[in-house]
Amino acid sequence: MQKREQSFGIQMLSVQPDTKPKGCAGCNRKIKDRYLLKALDKYWHEDCLKCACCDCRLGEVGSTLYTKANLILCRRDYLRLFGVTGNCAACSKLIPAFEMVMRAKDNVYHLDCFACQLCNQRFCVGDKFFLKNNMILCQTDYEEGLMKDGYAPQVR
Ligand SMILES: [Zn+2]
Ligand SMILES: [Zn+2]
Ligand SMILES: [Zn+2]
Ligand SMILES: [Zn+2]
Repeated sequence: MQKREQSFGIQMLSVQPDTKPKGCAGCNRKIKDRYLLKALDKYWHEDCLKCACCDCRLGEVGSTLYTKANLILCRRDYLRLFGVTGNCAACSKLIPAFEMVMRAKDNVYHLDCFACQLCNQRFCVGDKFFLKNNMILCQTDYEEGLMKDGYAPQVR
């Protein structure tokens, strides 16, 4: 599987009182707190493992950090700066990070691709859409599909 993101896990460890304090990779001071973070094979103060962009403490955000070009970033900033959003679930082409996307469950779509994949009807904000076998469907096509599958009584 192709790894798209440079993401690394963060562990929170409790410091054993009888061990020598570890040096923090962020501020180079000794870590004398009760807890320290381990990430990228280095040790960090909880306060020192921060996103280079928004300064959020990465130990709290979700225990994953992203690196690129020697920057340590939270997921949001990483994606904003370097990421690709993913592949459009409709046309399978890459979506660059800066582009506006539509999301449905785990899928992302180009704005232009977010349409019923049977009748090509575009959706407006507030319109109902359905996901079936990973296809976006308008309500009409979705309900028709249900009938064909025999989940609903045949009406024709
Ligand atoms: Zn530190
Ligand atoms: Zn950030
Ligand atoms: Zn697309
Ligand atoms: Zn449709």
